[in-house]
Amino acid sequence: MAGHGAELSLPRRSWFRPRGLFGKYVIAFVGLIVLVLGTNAALEAWFTYNYTIGVLVKTQSDKAEAAARRIQQFVDEIERQISFATRASASTIEQHIADYQLLLREVPAIEQLRQLNGKGMEQLMVNRSEVVKNSGADYSRSPSFTEARGRSVWASPADFEGSAPVMSIVMPHSGLNAGYTVAQINLESLSTLLDSSQIGNDYEAYLIGPLGRLLAHSNRERRLGTSLGELPQVRAAMKQEGEPPTFGLDPDGRSVLIASAVVPHLTWHVFVEQPRSTALQPVYRVLNRTALLAALGVLLAIIAGTWLARQMVIPIRALQVGAQQLEASEFGHRIEVRPGDEISDLADHFNRMAEQLQESYTRLEQKVEERTRALAKSVSEFKALEEIGRAVASSLDTKAVLATIVTRAVQLTRADAGAIYRYDASRKLFELAGAHALEQGFQDAIRSARIRFDENIFGQPIALPDLRESPNFPLRDAILAAGFHSILVVPLITQDEILGALVVQRRSVGDFPSGTIDLMQTFAHQSVLALNNARMFLEVEQKGRELAIANEHKTQFFANMSHELRTPLNGILGFSELLTDGLYGKLPDKAMEVLDRIQKDGKHLLGLINDVLDISKIEAGQLSLSLSDYSVQSIVDTVVASTEALAHTKGIEVRTAVPGDLPIGYGDERRLTQVLLNIVGNAIKFTDTGSVEIRVDATNGYFKIAVEDTGPGIPLSDQQRVFDDFQQVDSGITRQKGGTGLGLSISRRLVQAHGGNIELHSWLGVGSTFNIVVPVRASEQRQVA
Ligand code: ADP
Repeated sequence: MAGHGAELSLPRRSWFRPRGLFGKYVIAFVGLIVLVLGTNAALEAWFTYNYTIGVLVKTQSDKAEAAARRIQQFVDEIERQISFATRASASTIEQHIADYQLLLREVPAIEQLRQLNGKGMEQLMVNRSEVVKNSGADYSRSPSFTEARGRSVWASPADFEGSAPVMSIVMPHSGLNAGYTVAQINLESLSTLLDSSQIGNDYEAYLIGPLGRLLAHSNRERRLGTSLGELPQVRAAMKQEGEPPTFGLDPDGRSVLIASAVVPHLTWHVFVEQPRSTALQPVYRVLNRTALLAALGVLLAIIAGTWLARQMVIPIRALQVGAQQLEASEFGHRIEVRPGDEISDLADHFNRMAEQLQESYTRLEQKVEERTRALAKSVSEFKALEEIGRAVASSLDTKAVLATIVTRAVQLTRADAGAIYRYDASRKLFELAGAHALEQGFQDAIRSARIRFDENIFGQPIALPDLRESPNFPLRDAILAAGFHSILVVPLITQDEILGALVVQRRSVGDFPSGTIDLMQTFAHQSVLALNNARMFLEVEQKGRELAIANEHKTQFFANMSHELRTPLNGILGFSELLTDGLYGKLPDKAMEVLDRIQKDGKHLLGLINDVLDISKIEAGQLSLSLSDYSVQSIVDTVVASTEALAHTKGIEVRTAVPGDLPIGYGDERRLTQVLLNIVGNAIKFTDTGSVEIRVDATNGYFKIAVEDTGPGIPLSDQQRVFDDFQQVDSGITRQKGGTGLGLSISRRLVQAHGGNIELHSWLGVGSTFNIVVPVRASEQRQVA
């Protein structure tokens, strides 16, 4: 029963089903790890970015500040040198020339020095190639003169001579109206303050003067004087609004990380920048590293998730497979799960359940088998009984029925042979009535033997498991000699008499099971029924025959008696008529009255006798119609003529409606007249006031003669009965009118003998209508009961 192959028949499923438990575990696990790693990476990238940018901006700002300071120092130093040349001690022009030439030697950035008097006139001009005294050039309106007045020093905004940046520094001489020294400074050397040795290789630095023009650049190839006022960082710095931007653009349009500082007195701006891509290198490195770690994490998560999910799902799958096996009634399957956890406990429970189921199932199967066997046995017994029952009910051949019973009894009790005996009560002997599987010789032996039983012991079945131990059993030796050793005798008894015995015998020795004895008793009942049936049938048959003979005698008697009565009655009527006619002389009136009564009563009696004779003839099947052509009109006329007198006496109108074109009928005219006379006679007899109408028509090959009266009517309950012999409506009217109750019975049978019928429609207090329906041409006489 345990299906080892069953596992193969289960559908193989892949471990990974997105909707399955396994898929859900893996997806949840990996999803969680990815979420954590992703968040971590994003945060780290964010912080690294901010930190890196902060550090870079700080570094660049420091560099810018340092550069701004250097530039300021550079200018301050020049101013200091110039101030030396404006000392008060120099009073002669030669002294001034000497001071200026010294200054030019010591400060390469100074290109030219001019001395102006208090009115702005040039008194001296010294440069590295010439000295011009008292040129008298007028500078009184130039900014060098106007702006510097009243200040200790004034620096002009930077300007360009070609691409060379220049500026002027104007300083007054000490002493009242002592004049000014105007130094023209070449600013090209500022670029050396910004070169890579100062600010580092990765950076570029530049200095922006008024109007956003480039004064110096760490990259010497940049053309000085170019206006960079449009760069966003330059514009923001010059406007000095809000926070300086972290990112700006270089002249080539590339994004750069930028920091700036102001050179304080000169309102110049130093910018230090590096390309954005270079600046963000560390951030990119962190991002790469984080991505690598995240990928590694996800990979590990997938491996770990898969492993965990498998650990979880494999036992569940094993349980599932087990459940499916149970579903398929494969109780032999056991679930194996690594011990130690809840699922293995569940599997143990499951296995125990399967074991119990298996046991119950086995027990159930056994029971079903037993029951099926018992049922099959019952069915065969039932069939045998049913067969016997049918035989008993349908066959009056007692011999055949008893033979069937004994054959089935032997088969169902698994005996080897059997016999059925009838008991002859008068001789107190059992006679063989049927046998099964008994040799002819043995049967003959039974027939010739005179088997007697003590009637007293005969009430219960007699079971003899070993015949050898029952020396008194009739025919014991013959039975043993025939090879039978055990015997079961069941009596066939009714409540008050013994009918016989049913016997089965076996070759083996042994007890008869109680079921077998019960079964045999059932067979015995059936046999009793069969025997009773046969007996009753014989009795009924006998009675039937006797009854038929008696009936015949009765009919014969009636016919004979009617004949015998009719003959003298006709004589009486004939003689009384002769007397009335005065053939034997005139009689006194009193005697004439008596004669009249004699005639009336005699005629009534004759009618009665005729009726009885008719009934007898009909019942004896001796009534025969004499068929010939007839006319309905003439029948109606005859009947009306015969009943006219009575109708007249009662004051009842008799109307007729007979069409002139009726076909000629074919039938017994005398009998049909008798029928119509009876019905019209009844109508007049029972009607006290009103009328009687006779209507005739012919349709579909039938005459319908309707007789309608306005008499008392016949109750519905009597409408069938009035057609039976000697039946009348039980009422005062009927009793008053007299009659025998034979008329309608005879009439209906006469009409039926023609192949027709009489119908009755009647309502109490309204009247009755009798419809005589006869075929126009009666083909032959019908047999009527
Ligand atoms: P009878 O007339 O000799 O008694 P019938 O067989 O002719 O016998 O009639 C049977 C009964 O049917 C009558 O006794 C009567 O009670 C009832 N019967 C017959 N014809 C009529 C009728 N036209 N009106 C009322 N009752 C009728």
